[in-house]
Amino acid sequence: MTYQELKAEENKYVMNTYGRFPIALDRGEGATVWDVEGRKYIDLASGIGVNCMGYNNQIIIDAITAQAHKLMHVSNLFTTEPMVWAAKKLVEKTHLNGKVFFANSGAEANEGAIKLARKYSFDKYGEGRYKIVTLVNSFHGRTVTTLKATGQDRFHNYFFPFTEGFDYAEANDFDSVRRKADDMACAVMLELVQGEGGVLPLDPAFVKQVEALCREKDLLLIIDEVQTGVGRTGSLFCFQQYGIRPDVVTMAKGLGGGLPVGAVLAAESCAGVLTPGTHATTFGGTPIVCAAVNAVLDTVGEGQFLAAVREKGEYLKNGILSIGSPSIHGVRGMGLMLGIIVDEGRHTAFANKLIEKGVLAITAGKNAVRLLPPLTISREEMDEALTIMKEVF
Ligand SMILES: *Cc1c(COP(=O)(O)O)cnc(C)c1O
Repeated sequence: MTYQELKAEENKYVMNTYGRFPIALDRGEGATVWDVEGRKYIDLASGIGVNCMGYNNQIIIDAITAQAHKLMHVSNLFTTEPMVWAAKKLVEKTHLNGKVFFANSGAEANEGAIKLARKYSFDKYGEGRYKIVTLVNSFHGRTVTTLKATGQDRFHNYFFPFTEGFDYAEANDFDSVRRKADDMACAVMLELVQGEGGVLPLDPAFVKQVEALCREKDLLLIIDEVQTGVGRTGSLFCFQQYGIRPDVVTMAKGLGGGLPVGAVLAAESCAGVLTPGTHATTFGGTPIVCAAVNAVLDTVGEGQFLAAVREKGEYLKNGILSIGSPSIHGVRGMGLMLGIIVDEGRHTAFANKLIEKGVLAITAGKNAVRLLPPLTISREEMDEALTIMKEVF
């Protein structure tokens, strides 16, 4: 079937909620994908940072194939090995001495973290301390609650009434956070590198100040690592490079190497807050998905793998800068989470042009072409992408 034929069927049967790029993808290998008409692309988007292990990865395929022959789903009324081992790895590799709740997406993980923070405060101080401070320009998800947690007005439309109890502080402005974190607050939630907002890393000194404020006022520090987590920025979690100790870390995108999964990791300070009957989800921690999580953590969690991510990030960033195009005003980000800064409003045109020439890239904020390649991308694939980028920019 050609793209045009398939698109006509899509328009007939699938809700029109996405502005999709005009290609239909068919298969992949490493960081390379092919569309239904056989055209080849170097994928610097990896399904919005999800396919961290690349396509047709034998480690992931073996793990989920073996598990598929045993059990795919049992519900949380029973214990399974893959779920327990995945949780143990997350706790041990982060040294947070805490516990994990498995969900199915980033938004659901953030919902869990918000509930956890409110109950932490309710248990200790009673009603009234419910406010969660997030940052202007943040992104935390698309449910009615996480839309409101998102600090961008354009998301606060149509679906009224939204969940109350969110307030937005300016990024890298500690006084702003201090003002918003009043006696009604129970938590501060932030992305260390704002992803959808434009690939904007937070200032480490600001993050340290926020951490100290959270300790002083007994606020939970929730780090949304849905995009930055699982090796993306060159450490297993980005907070490890900021030298902080969060109370809660949420994660999703890369965690299942392509399978849908999210998780709330609570440190020892609050690991016992959610109790039987207070939080649940049918699919969370299902064995087939946790088999993939284990394979991802065993691979991405290794020091050599993470060192390679940092090296590849530097290589790609330097390669882009050395194009020397007047259209490129800089490259932001950490590890393999990069934003090429272009003139405001031209990012979409550049992403479209890149795709037309054979590189998959996405956008962020008002002026960033966002790159989130598979962490396993090869030198040859990066070079191929850089050649095409040179032509486009
Ligand atoms: C993608 C993203 C989310 C939402 O994740 P979904 O899986 O789409 O619900 C939340 N927070 C951040 C930082 C994200 O990048």
